[in-house]
Amino acid sequence: MPRRRALIAGNWKMHKTAAEAAVLTTEIRALLPAEPEVDVLLLPPYPCLQTVHGALQGDRRVQLGAQDCHWEDSGAFTGEVSAGMLAAWCQHVLVGHSERRQLFHESDGTVRAKLEAVLRSGMEPILAVGETEAERRSGATRDVLVRQARAGLVGLPREQVLLCTVAYEPVWAIGTGAAAEPGDIAEAALILRGVIEEAASGDAAEVRILYGGSVTPESAPALLSADGVAGALVGGASLSAPQFCGITAAASP
Ligand code: PEP
Repeated sequence: MPRRRALIAGNWKMHKTAAEAAVLTTEIRALLPAEPEVDVLLLPPYPCLQTVHGALQGDRRVQLGAQDCHWEDSGAFTGEVSAGMLAAWCQHVLVGHSERRQLFHESDGTVRAKLEAVLRSGMEPILAVGETEAERRSGATRDVLVRQARAGLVGLPREQVLLCTVAYEPVWAIGTGAAAEPGDIAEAALILRGVIEEAASGDAAEVRILYGGSVTPESAPALLSADGVAGALVGGASLSAPQFCGITAAASP
């Protein structure tokens, strides 16, 4: 199985009203080449999904996803959104973003349950993993990555592992302007590739590993050339169409 082409995903976090989301989507569509050489994915807030879906007008260059979901299919979970509700609009759902893990105290077990809910609903999960600054300083990066990736992937049927994407997002690099070094990203990708192969019981070249953390059009060429990396999860820069499309251009072979 050949490697899948690079994926550039824009995580809009809790930004953009529906009206603003429609404008940004239209701007991105206008700036993308007619035939992008990378997969492009937008992850707007839940209330913008329907609007962005409409603004895409069936544009096959851009996929749509959500930033999170609940782990149950339905029930008394006030304020929550199930994967099944997202499936009408989304092909992908991000799980385990460090903001969910840190600010909302999501455990590895919770992230795994969410990832399984995404798969149950016929979508493709993006599993975010990454060490904090303190973990990096104490030399725990490998242990953290292995623990988070194993908790997310090991024990899934091989065909489900192959539907996953893993995003390496060092927590200290998110939103700080201080991206990781390409050598460190390559080392993390190698560690994650080992877990992916363990989970898939063999080669799983189609499972992409993304890098996320202060990616800009300027830093993208070096960051995305790190060995083992096939794209980026972009936060801040995804809120600007020129910046986001600049990153997609930088990721194109
Ligand atoms: C993120 O939140 O996933 C992210 C990578 O953010 P930023 O690009 O702003 O560092």
